[in-house]
Amino acid sequence: MSHSCSLLAPVDEDQEFHLDDYEGARARWCPGCGDHSVLTAAQRLLVDEQLKPEETVFVSGIGCSSRFPHYMKTYGFHGLHGRALPVATGIKLHRPDLNVFVVMGDGDCVSIGAGHWVHATRYNVDMVAMMLDNNIYGLTKMQTSPTTPQGYKSNTQPQGSWLPALNPIEATLGITNASFVAQTAEWIPAHLFATLQAAYRHNGFAFVRVLQRCPVFTADIYMDAVRNPEMIDMLDHPDGVPVPESLRQIYPNHLRHDPLNLSAARDLAADTSRIRLGVFFRDEGLPRYEETRHLPAHTADDKIRILNEELDQYAV
Ligand code: SF4
Repeated sequence: MSHSCSLLAPVDEDQEFHLDDYEGARARWCPGCGDHSVLTAAQRLLVDEQLKPEETVFVSGIGCSSRFPHYMKTYGFHGLHGRALPVATGIKLHRPDLNVFVVMGDGDCVSIGAGHWVHATRYNVDMVAMMLDNNIYGLTKMQTSPTTPQGYKSNTQPQGSWLPALNPIEATLGITNASFVAQTAEWIPAHLFATLQAAYRHNGFAFVRVLQRCPVFTADIYMDAVRNPEMIDMLDHPDGVPVPESLRQIYPNHLRHDPLNLSAARDLAADTSRIRLGVFFRDEGLPRYEETRHLPAHTADDKIRILNEELDQYAV
């Protein structure tokens, strides 16, 4: 857990934050790991939005990408495998004033944490949930994950992954009450930043799948798309992530897609013959759990009294 023992001092209201105000420990990911790019984008986002470090929390589970909170100079919680989302939900429900970001790997989110991913999406609590998808368990040295392509060899399935890969975007779009579903790639920093910014500004649970290179264990998986921008379709819409001019010249294929059109979003996500980046779906009109759940305000003394009354029921 980062910054669990030392409190971040509140700052002056007029203090301006710079990149080094958000930079934590030196990142220890492998050279060339896509996680570095996501870290930079997240820190840039905090600068752009001028988020106070003491009002910002990064929560992670277990995996390479889950070291993220250590590298941020904000509050952080490096928790248990697959359990980042319930921790983040608890934080947000009790401290709705905090900016909550969740960082998960593919195994963390759509395997052991799959139940939490489904229900956090449905609960639609306001936070940004990033799934850094390198298609493998990297920390445990190349084990097949749910998003490993069929036939891809790993240490756990040396003959090649038996099953077709899970499609996280298509699956998330199938969850009732999903309110923001986007996909970006860490090797396109301008798009990554714009997507994270749109996710942060969304009022609700924003699920962002980040295609992430792991040069150690899955170096070849995204290589063709990195080298050949024509393999990528940019989803373009003013309500999604408008494609900046600088990227239009590099990525010639754009699709006009209205993020309110869920049926079209599902069709686009299901077609895996192309890599599609942008906001698939976004609807701020969907109910959020924190709005529908009404907790009475309790003082600290009230909480102790209620707890004691509960415990007294079991007195013998
Ligand atoms: Fe990144 Fe892969 Fe190294 Fe993990 S093993 S830090 S995902 S490059």
